[in-house]
Amino acid sequence: MARNAKVQSPYGVEEWGGGYFSINPEGHLAVCPFRDHRAIDLVDIVRAAARRGIAPPLLVRFPQVLQTQLSDLYECFDRANREFGYGRRYRSVFPLKVNPLKPVVEALVAAGRPGAFGLEVGSKAELAIALAQKLPRNSWICINGFKDPRLIEMATLASGRDPKIVLVVERLREIPLVVKAFRREGHAPTLGLRCRLYQRGSGRWEASGGETSKFGLGSSEILYAVDTLAEEGLLPRLEVLHFHIGSQITSIRRIKDAVKEAARVYAKLRKRGVPLTTLNVGGGLGIDYDGSRTPSDSSVNYTMEEFANNVVYTVQEVCQEEEVAPPDLVSESGRALTAYHSLLITNCESRESDVPVDYTPEEPRGARGEDKGAEEEEDPPPQLKEMADIAREISVKNFREYYHDAVTTRSEVLNLFGLGYLSLEAKARAEQDFYAVCRKALRFARQTGVVSDELRALEKAFRAKYVTNFSVFQSVPDAWAIEQLFPIVPIHRLNETPTVQGVLVDLTCDSDGVIDSFVDVRDVKEVLELHAGSASRPYLLAICLLGAYQDVMGDHHNLFGRPAELAVSYQRNGLDLRVLARGEDLDRLARLAGYEPEALRETFLKRRQRRRKAPPPAPDLAEATGAYDRFWKASPYLESDPELYEELE
Ligand SMILES: *Cc1c(COP(=O)(O)O)cnc(C)c1O
Repeated sequence: MARNAKVQSPYGVEEWGGGYFSINPEGHLAVCPFRDHRAIDLVDIVRAAARRGIAPPLLVRFPQVLQTQLSDLYECFDRANREFGYGRRYRSVFPLKVNPLKPVVEALVAAGRPGAFGLEVGSKAELAIALAQKLPRNSWICINGFKDPRLIEMATLASGRDPKIVLVVERLREIPLVVKAFRREGHAPTLGLRCRLYQRGSGRWEASGGETSKFGLGSSEILYAVDTLAEEGLLPRLEVLHFHIGSQITSIRRIKDAVKEAARVYAKLRKRGVPLTTLNVGGGLGIDYDGSRTPSDSSVNYTMEEFANNVVYTVQEVCQEEEVAPPDLVSESGRALTAYHSLLITNCESRESDVPVDYTPEEPRGARGEDKGAEEEEDPPPQLKEMADIAREISVKNFREYYHDAVTTRSEVLNLFGLGYLSLEAKARAEQDFYAVCRKALRFARQTGVVSDELRALEKAFRAKYVTNFSVFQSVPDAWAIEQLFPIVPIHRLNETPTVQGVLVDLTCDSDGVIDSFVDVRDVKEVLELHAGSASRPYLLAICLLGAYQDVMGDHHNLFGRPAELAVSYQRNGLDLRVLARGEDLDRLARLAGYEPEALRETFLKRRQRRRKAPPPAPDLAEATGAYDRFWKASPYLESDPELYEELE
């Protein structure tokens, strides 16, 4: 095995890691929550979890990463404000939709600046949570989305204190509801208008913006809203103009164009006497998942700093032209704050055949002298010998031609078998020889650099399949739903050259449960470089950048549940590990599907009792029942002894 301190890593950690990942001298993947030398070794996390009796899969959160991202966002806007002499405030409002989980929201709330933080909600449940957070002084709660009278009543009754409630009107029919609550209660929340821009986003969520978007008010609707609010005496409450053109905007150009258009609307409304103070530019700040820095779907062609600069500069420019005082700025960046903060660590093993390469299946002894076994023994079809010859004689000079011959011969062999002229043993030998031909052809093709379409297809078929202890649908749903790329790296053995090209198959019995596209700076890779396995040594991968959207979009397909969850922080004298959850067990999953495990147990017991009378004798009833009871506590994932990981290297 090649051990070398200076192995060139094929994983691109530097490119997509955003400064949060590094490879340490032991060849382990580490997370650097402050983007500096302070690093948490992921192998240490696995060992520490094992000592608490928890084996992979592990979903690991790094709250310090959330805090670093938020303070970076503040600093980017601070710098932009200074650089352009922009004399107004910036506020970062976190949209709960992106990750409403308690440890995530609490970490961000704790890092929010007084007078410069907020939460954005788009549903009643999100509002109920947001209203009870310990927000910094002078925070905002922005309410978007579809609204009914009950939600508007809640917003109205919660207004008038810190945090400030900002109700963003997205449809004209919300206005009468606001007016009604205002008349009844005598006060109203701060109001915003969401405008529908002509400019669209770019990338996958392009349709969230643009004239035909599901959300927001067009020009005449905005004017009608302003007039109606004025008639009702609510115009003084209208402070915010909002837009959101979609998530993961891949091109800075699109951001600039949208900001320009919205700033223009802002300025025109100000001139019309609308007392707006704030422009909310929504989300869209993207993440470079593949490290390519291009406007391709899983990347962005700009940095957080360029985002801030473009927003500030563009708004200022438009306001100067229009001779209007520039607004305070709000952004609702969710993906950018959360994507880096969580990853899944899980174990995998090669699904390659465990049959030794030199194994030759023999005809069963009893079969000799009888039937076809004997015929074939005396006079094997010429195709078998031909396949063996090809496997022996294929070389760098003839590999394309010989590979063709092998393909033809193989289909003849399969025909013979189908017609009953061939024993299973003979077919197996031909198969072994054919695979040998394929492996050699691939090797020669790579050696010579001549890879035809045909051999490329073969290469794809020959990708090693690593059975990985997770469910794509639960833990990486966007990889399945929208083919988003997420970086995947072994957490150890990174100073060994990987020798296998593989794909990951998950535990679900669904052929979609695979990951077979991988990040690459120049392209999308169809294989991931992996290390050859051994049965006795665990092999662990991290699927990274899962913190945005994935956390709550995962589903229970095939009844795989949420894996164990940890929060890990860096401390000077080692890591601080908190177990957030031990993972959903079978009991919980059965309940989710509408069963009551107590009732199931009764039924199981009754049926067993009945069965017991009939031969053949069954195992002891009490033992089987005990096993069934314990089974409910099992993890849906492949369980292994945590001790196996205590000394992981
Ligand atoms: C989803 C959403 C966001 C978050 O967008 P990101 O691109 O994840 O930052 C912000 N604002 C609104 C109104 C949203 O619906």
